[in-house]
Amino acid sequence: MSSSSFKIAALAGDGIGPEVMREAIKVLRVIEKKFGFKIEITEAPVGWAGIDAAGKALPDDTLALCRKSDSILFGSVGLPDRDPTIPKEQRPERAALLRIRKEFGLFANLRPVQLPKALAHACPLRVERQGDGIDVLVVRELTGGMYFGQPKKTEEISEGGKTFQRAIDTMVYTTPEIERIAHVAFKAAAGRRKRLTSIDKANVLENGILWRDVVTRVGKEYPGITLEHMFVDNAAMQLMLKPTQFDVMLCENMFGDILSDEAAALAGSLGMLPSASLGVTAGEKTFGFYEPAGGTAPDIAGKNLANPIAQILSTALMLRYSLGLNEAAAAIESAVKKAIEAGNRTGDIFTASETGAKRVGTKEMGDAIAAAI
Ligand code: NAD
Repeated sequence: MSSSSFKIAALAGDGIGPEVMREAIKVLRVIEKKFGFKIEITEAPVGWAGIDAAGKALPDDTLALCRKSDSILFGSVGLPDRDPTIPKEQRPERAALLRIRKEFGLFANLRPVQLPKALAHACPLRVERQGDGIDVLVVRELTGGMYFGQPKKTEEISEGGKTFQRAIDTMVYTTPEIERIAHVAFKAAAGRRKRLTSIDKANVLENGILWRDVVTRVGKEYPGITLEHMFVDNAAMQLMLKPTQFDVMLCENMFGDILSDEAAALAGSLGMLPSASLGVTAGEKTFGFYEPAGGTAPDIAGKNLANPIAQILSTALMLRYSLGLNEAAAAIESAVKKAIEAGNRTGDIFTASETGAKRVGTKEMGDAIAAAI
């Protein structure tokens, strides 16, 4: 991207959202100075903050701001003690999150899972299974498959003199839907270790056969990438047995939902996991939505306890995928690594028995990362 000036909408949301967003913006300001570009950051309320400020989880002004921006940096929304007090369709996750996904056609969800060697103790796998550290990118198709296919219903049926219910979900994918997510995955692999594992269930599902055919065909356009196919049940097992074999995993919607959470568990804490949801690329621009994988963590909100790394790494993804600032993104990722190697640990990744580790708060972790840039 040639422009050196960018507009982003920063929607911190509820719970720990504002605390971790503050640290992400702190880091962005340092990066801006170092690399000499300008990011215009406009903050706006969303979630319960939106309902309290303007009566809606996604206020009109907030949506208008998002439309004018190059991307959205999002915290998280929803408060379990307040959500049940309003109708389902007005609750923050539906009225703000799902609405934004739909509004901006966010069809590709990218979830990098990294376990640095220094955090080996936080991983549920034995150290010998972790190799030199785990580094997997799950690319999940987000707008197709069984979650949206029609018909989708629960109906009463009568058979053999008995009446009972039958639930129907339909798995549907078209060639163009598979092609566009496959391109996202191959391009991501090109910027990494150049291996792509495409996940399907081609031994049982028609969808799996089409998925495998289309991904294989798209793969011919990326001769530098090694493509392999794996059945989803085996992939779930391999993630536990030998996660270091994976670079990029490409999944349809439901398989990606499940496998990305399984992969996430390997990183030890939700507080470490960023995510990106991307829309279509128009010219050089890809509109994206960047958020931590975790929620609003009401149990630790407002106490300077939350790990801001997921939010800060989401910011790095935004620089890479929507603003084309690859070097700046890498600088943030390397600063996070340095802060961890220096022993900084928020409560979620702290173990008293670890030598050299010091327990820090949200703000101190943000300071350590900003200082390491
Ligand atoms: P959660 O992710 O908020 O919390 C689960 C556990 O992980 C908690 O113990 C929490 O303290 C911990 N955790 C999460 N992020 C952390 C961080 N950055 N640092 C340290 N620890 C962290 O999930 P939940 O408790 O099931 O949900 C709480 C609320 O968040 C609900 O209202 C839910 O609907 C909402 N939610 C929102 C999103 C989103 O906005 N995308 C996603 C998930 C949940």
